[in-house]
Amino acid sequence: MIFVQIAFVVMLVLGFMVLSARAQQGQQPEAKSRQTVTSEKVQTMSREDIQRALKRIESNNPPPQKMGAMCYDMVGPPDNFEYVCPVDGEKTVYSRKSKAFEQATELQGLRGSIEILRPLAKGVSISLDERRLCNKCNPSLSDAERYATLVLQYVDGRTVRTDRATPEDLRYLIGFFSGGLSYKTFTDGQEPLKSVEERLKQLLGEI
Ligand SMILES: [Zn+2]
Repeated sequence: MIFVQIAFVVMLVLGFMVLSARAQQGQQPEAKSRQTVTSEKVQTMSREDIQRALKRIESNNPPPQKMGAMCYDMVGPPDNFEYVCPVDGEKTVYSRKSKAFEQATELQGLRGSIEILRPLAKGVSISLDERRLCNKCNPSLSDAERYATLVLQYVDGRTVRTDRATPEDLRYLIGFFSGGLSYKTFTDGQEPLKSVEERLKQLLGEI
């Protein structure tokens, strides 16, 4: 009886192994590109590493697009947005008419993306400079001068600042620093990084 049980367990394990091997095969293109990166991945990304990764995007055939979900509940933006400064806790209210409204309402998404990006971008310090959005930190700015700035700082001391960075920009960077050839769209689809190469280079300070 015990042999039957053992044989059953062995069969189960074998079956599982076959299944997982199939699953891996199905994902091969992505797994392959990730693997290439794992071997390239170093503790600290130097400028050469960044340029090498950009070259890889440039020279490889772009991976196929994947459509994301089409069905969305579009929630309209609120009439006012209350920005709370993380430095001093000051509240600045932006109305929908304000030129900075979009930037202010996008902040939550930008901050979240930066948290995802930080552990991926080894050796590159990434932050968001929000001071222009705060009335206390910057009392004399006009609405048009209020925006957030994405700041990348490399180990060699170079700093790249991008004013009015968008959630899309951060998606490109997450895709890039994940080591793949594509990025995830806001509908959960996939687009090749090659199609946004110029912007990506700008964000990385390589133009
Ligand atoms: Zn402030």
